[in-house]
Amino acid sequence: MVKSEPTEISDHHTLAIIGSGFAGLGAAIKLEQLHGGSVVIFERASSVGGVWRDNDYPGAACDVQSVLYSYSFAPSHRWRHTYARQAEIRLYLEDLARAHGLMPRIRTEHAVESLSWDADASRWILDTARGWSTANHVVLATGSLADPTLPAIDGIDTFDGPVFHSSQWNHDVDLSGKRVAVVGTGASAIQFVPKIQPVVKSLTLFQRTAPWVMPRNDRPISESTRKRLGSVPGYRRASRAVIFAKREIKLLAFRHPVLMRIGEREGRAHLRHAVSDPALREKLSPNYRMGCKRILLSDEYYPALAQPNVSVENGGVAKVTPTGVVDAAGGVHEVDAIIFGTGFDTSKLPLTDRVFDENGQSMADSWGTSPRAYLGTTVAGFPNLYLMHGPNIALGHTSVIMMFESQLGYIERAMKHAVDASGSIEPTPEAQAEYSADIDELTGGTVWTSGGCSSWYLDPSGRNSNLWPGSILGYRTRTVRFDPTQHLVRSSDGSR
Ligand SMILES: Cc1cc2nc3c(=O)[nH]c(=O)nc-3n(C[C@H](O)[C@H](O)[C@H](O)COP(=O)(O)OP(=O)(O)OC[C@H]3O[C@@H](n4cnc5c(N)ncnc54)[C@H](O)[C@@H]3O)c2cc1C
Repeated sequence: MVKSEPTEISDHHTLAIIGSGFAGLGAAIKLEQLHGGSVVIFERASSVGGVWRDNDYPGAACDVQSVLYSYSFAPSHRWRHTYARQAEIRLYLEDLARAHGLMPRIRTEHAVESLSWDADASRWILDTARGWSTANHVVLATGSLADPTLPAIDGIDTFDGPVFHSSQWNHDVDLSGKRVAVVGTGASAIQFVPKIQPVVKSLTLFQRTAPWVMPRNDRPISESTRKRLGSVPGYRRASRAVIFAKREIKLLAFRHPVLMRIGEREGRAHLRHAVSDPALREKLSPNYRMGCKRILLSDEYYPALAQPNVSVENGGVAKVTPTGVVDAAGGVHEVDAIIFGTGFDTSKLPLTDRVFDENGQSMADSWGTSPRAYLGTTVAGFPNLYLMHGPNIALGHTSVIMMFESQLGYIERAMKHAVDASGSIEPTPEAQAEYSADIDELTGGTVWTSGGCSSWYLDPSGRNSNLWPGSILGYRTRTVRFDPTQHLVRSSDGSR
């Protein structure tokens, strides 16, 4: 990707935020106090919400308790279930934007195509779908699970019926009485399969790897509890603290995989309880250590797969024909619709192949096969640019929103430092390298590298560049104090 040259620049902002999901909205709320009126949010879609706008498939919900999967500075006492449904989370985000007066600053249908650093003017030049803008600081809040992946399956374009991905659910297709193929058994598939199984004529599930599925224990939150959460001082904070602590303790097993045997016993019992057919049980038994891939939660998935209108095919899909799907063993399955629950393109962070430094090199090229960022947020050579959900920000054991909150604290302090010094700020290459080495050391011996699976947590070089491998408290400790010695400040006249 080569950077393009600006034509006419239409406006200038102190801070431009790209993306209006959880991260972008959080950034706007936390950072606008620093910058007052000149904050703009560019969003490529027609409304806010990020993954919670796009993923409206049947059964879509979070898999971390909502009390924790929400901002501590914007708590809600309206959650109707332990794990909020997609529509509730989307509404929470829309309310957040409205309540904090962000709507006038959000430019929807404004995809950012590229960004280039103009060192002479100490500003970013943004090429958007609707013209050029500039900004002193940029927060990249473009998510990491925003772009769906359809596997490159032979013949997929020849299929006669509807084909869609779970994150682009085609609500115009009536699945009742249809023969449906579902490809993939990840976090989305285990949510929508139990919802469509009762209405379809037959459901054939194509699985490459059986996931570990644990009891979800989702409960409605009663009206009285909701009232208490809203009115009794400290009650919501206490319930959040309890859930937080329980999840932090679980990190021990990810870091010492032998402890995962305890969870595996529970997982196998969960499967035995729901599936009596030994052949099906065998197919659904994972062959890697629990936690190596994301642990999934469902009380409905196994019972749905045990129904007579469902069959599970191991080994995945070999090809698609105009009338059906051919499995890896050559078996032919005639179907009316194909749904992909195959997850997202996590091989690169969105837009980073179009963020250019002062010499025209893209961030993705500067990384090569393995993304690296200081505190998962700032990148040497890319001043005044902050990645939310950057390298090593995703989590395997708890809510990523708490990582965002720590990041926002760091960004706020870094920006303030730059503003006070009337210059631009970036981490030193040494600070970034040292932080990456810490990540590698922390990752060593964890279930993510030793669990015997292949997962999106590891990049093509085999390195963990996706997950923060430590505790939330550990990350917060690193971000809570700003360390000027780890940063380069360049004043607008170019001096350091
Ligand atoms: C179905 C699903 C369930 C999940 N459940 C959980 C959970 O329970 N717990 C958990 O911790 N995490 C969960 N996650 C992970 C989730 O990605 C994060 O929790 C979080 O919501 C990500 O927020 P974000 O703002 O970083 O990214 P996103 O929500 O992806 O938002 C990014 C935004 O940027 C916009 N954008 C992208 N590129 C451009 C561009 N070039 N120009 C302008 N705008 C652009 C997108 O349109 C989007 O609105 C889930 C993810 C999915 C898909």
